[in-house]
Amino acid sequence: MERVLLVRYTEIHLKGLNRPYFERALVDNMKRALRGLEPKIEREHGRIYVRGVSEENFGEALDRLTRVFGIHSISPAAAVDKDWETVVSAALELMEPMVAEKPDSTFKVLARRSDKRYFMNSDAINKELGGRVLDRFPTLSVDVHKPEIKLSVEIRDMAYIYCDEIPGPAGMPTGTAGKASLLISGGIDSPVAGYMMAKRGLTLSAVHFYSYPYTSERARDKVVELTKLVSRYAGEIRLFLVPFTDIQMTIYEKCPSKETTVLMRRLMMRIAERIARSEGAMALITGESLGQVASQTLEALCVTNDAVDMPVFRPLIGFDKDEIMDIARRIGTYETSILPYEDCCTVFVPKHPVTKPKLDELRASEAAVDFSEMIEKAIENTELMIVR
Ligand code: ATP
Ligand code: MG
Repeated sequence: MERVLLVRYTEIHLKGLNRPYFERALVDNMKRALRGLEPKIEREHGRIYVRGVSEENFGEALDRLTRVFGIHSISPAAAVDKDWETVVSAALELMEPMVAEKPDSTFKVLARRSDKRYFMNSDAINKELGGRVLDRFPTLSVDVHKPEIKLSVEIRDMAYIYCDEIPGPAGMPTGTAGKASLLISGGIDSPVAGYMMAKRGLTLSAVHFYSYPYTSERARDKVVELTKLVSRYAGEIRLFLVPFTDIQMTIYEKCPSKETTVLMRRLMMRIAERIARSEGAMALITGESLGQVASQTLEALCVTNDAVDMPVFRPLIGFDKDEIMDIARRIGTYETSILPYEDCCTVFVPKHPVTKPKLDELRASEAAVDFSEMIEKAIENTELMIVR
């Protein structure tokens, strides 16, 4: 008996003539995710088979695949010769531990025959195998509508037998939709925003602004760690760390205090856009959500947008904080996001920020100070980190 991971994929089948491109990208991403586990990956008739992973690495391979976008579900299967008695004994062996755990379970056999020359059709397999299961485990009973155990048998080049179907993350294969730059802070929202856009097939790069010594080394480490957690789904991320202290201090000293947050956001966007462009990224991504804070009112978002030409993706715009937190927990970024280290936005937050900034006024405040040299210096001193 050989152990195989049987992978089903999602929306890709909608892509018509581009389908081979999406399939190849998915297989490449799976190879990358399984690096070091020596898998043999084969694509065939709308399925992908992962073979050759050793018994001890099997669980790890399965776990990694649950984070590859484009995968709908994964079934760890036993692949055996199609000889009928071999099929039956593999199926019984697979069910043994489940029956031991709950002897009065209900079950159903779900046969599928792609090899039309096989001597039994699907119905016959269902009946025959169902009967053999009941002979061997008489405490079980059949329930064709809501079975607790679904015993699936697929007759193809070999017979594939499995009971589990573990959900994948769905979405589109990362890298099939182009590249965008994520503005990542140490908070809860931006890592989730990055996850969501990578799920739509975007390759991510990331930009983080830090204001050392007002923000600590540990705050920066936390952002690197969050980027690493996102990269478990999104693949390698080029993270740009931008020193922002001079700009922030200048805003703080020379601009109206109620406008500092929105001005800071405009300057962040400007610098992020420059970096994004140099990276071949075509859009920016932020973790903003409508009305969450003063700088995320519609007026404030318009003023922020005005600073750049690129489209700005805000996948969380219509989400409640609770919904965002749920996703953060599910993808494993929450615990790191809630570590207490200060972000530069929180350090310099004004007491009475404008909630309805006027574009003209903000433009004027910004124009009153010459930021161009500071922007150049920040970009010059930006550090690049490859996070994987
Ligand atoms: P988050 O939870 O992502 O920190 P937030 O609710 O705290 O978001 P803000 O602090 O207003 O909101 O930031 C809004 C968005 O601006 C963030 O989601 C992120 O995309 C970007 N951003 C904020 N601070 C930084 C930073 N220091 N570096 C890069 N991007 C930032
Ligand atoms: Mg924040």
